Amino acid sequence: MTEFKTVRGMRDFLPQEAQTLRTVEARTRKVAELYGYGEIITPVVESYELLSAKAGDEVRSRMFAFKDLGDRDVALRPEFTASVARLVATSMRNEPRPFRLFSVGTIYRYDEPQKGRYREFWQSNFELLGSNRPEADAEILMLTNGLLEKIGLKNHAFKIGHVGVLRGIFSQENVDESIQSTVMQLMDKKQYDDALETVQKARVSERCLKVLRRLVELKGDKILDVTDKIEECIKDYEMAVAATRNLREILKLARQGGCNAAMTVEAGFERGLEYYTGMIFEVYVPDLNIALGGGGRYDRLIELFGGAPTPAVGVAHGLDRILLAMKEQKSGLKGEETKKVVIIPIGDELRGEALRISQKLRESNLSVEVEVMGRKMAKALEDADRRNFDYAVIIGEKELKEGAVVLRNLKSREQNTLKIEELKKRIK
Ligand code: AMP
Repeated sequence: MTEFKTVRGMRDFLPQEAQTLRTVEARTRKVAELYGYGEIITPVVESYELLSAKAGDEVRSRMFAFKDLGDRDVALRPEFTASVARLVATSMRNEPRPFRLFSVGTIYRYDEPQKGRYREFWQSNFELLGSNRPEADAEILMLTNGLLEKIGLKNHAFKIGHVGVLRGIFSQENVDESIQSTVMQLMDKKQYDDALETVQKARVSERCLKVLRRLVELKGDKILDVTDKIEECIKDYEMAVAATRNLREILKLARQGGCNAAMTVEAGFERGLEYYTGMIFEVYVPDLNIALGGGGRYDRLIELFGGAPTPAVGVAHGLDRILLAMKEQKSGLKGEETKKVVIIPIGDELRGEALRISQKLRESNLSVEVEVMGRKMAKALEDADRRNFDYAVIIGEKELKEGAVVLRNLKSREQNTLKIEELKKRIK
């Protein structure tokens, strides 16, 4: 017989892991509610054309793409933003701006599986559409910071850059858009030498090469200090100067908004997705060297999808990696505490009574399991202890004649006989 396994890169979540994932998901929903982001639920399967339009070669080459039985070219979503852009360009095109949209669900990329990298993974995604102002960018940083705080992670830090700095230089140097994209992708992979070589081949000025060599070295966590240095370095490129000032403004606003996490500005920082036009960022914890989330500004995407010009900024948080970070930092998350009760009938003729009482207690929001293995009381209690139950309700013939049962507190080991009606009050 074949022993079936999950497909490479795919995972099962067993009850405890699933519970933690859902608790983290609930926190993302809470953040969405607190910041006024309305949830949208879009399909996992979208047209290949939509998903590949602006994703960039890196993401495009890793898509789960196939033909459906109707011969349509489709793919599993490798991100949420394309679906959001489709909605905003179509059904939501006449909605008043801004809008704040939230999604959470699974994403698919044919990445090489390793720690924190899977082929099916979870993201929570926030997009703020319709505003090109720095306070919108600051909000995205703040809510990311707020989410990680809510989850109880410590020492998270932002890495931040601005696509407009390099793009500004390149457009003033008349570098072709497609070459610009190649350079950005190389920078994303930290292949700075190859990136510089590609720029050199595009016959940019000597001055430009000098600026770029210095620029990729510029980084630091003193926001004003680094942005000043960047501005000084690129002072001959007008658009790059504007981008640097925009970045400084965003970071100042985020700080004023209480985003206290460390922020490192890196002039040479780029991201894999091609559609970014402004501020870009990733967030890390020291315990893991992979990003827990990332995002940025993309002002032209909605237009490219046929919508009205709509500046936008967004972020995707990787929930699987957040779970890993929680494990590394040993930070537990308390969900809604529901007391766990087991009901043990002493004898087969009391099974119906056990089911009746179980149902009554569930109506009072208790988590109730009935002993269904026909175990004797001692064995059933042992099992309940092992599984960390809070209470056992023991149903015996003698007590039941008086309308009573035995309630055993499995933590303190106290035990009392009491009326069935009193059970829920005593357990809560
Ligand atoms: P991106 O859409 O590439 O900006 O990714 C946003 C976030 O999704 C990343 O920061 C990661 O936390 C998470 N992520 C991306 N790819 C994977 C993957 N293959 N496995 C798990 N999480 C991922």
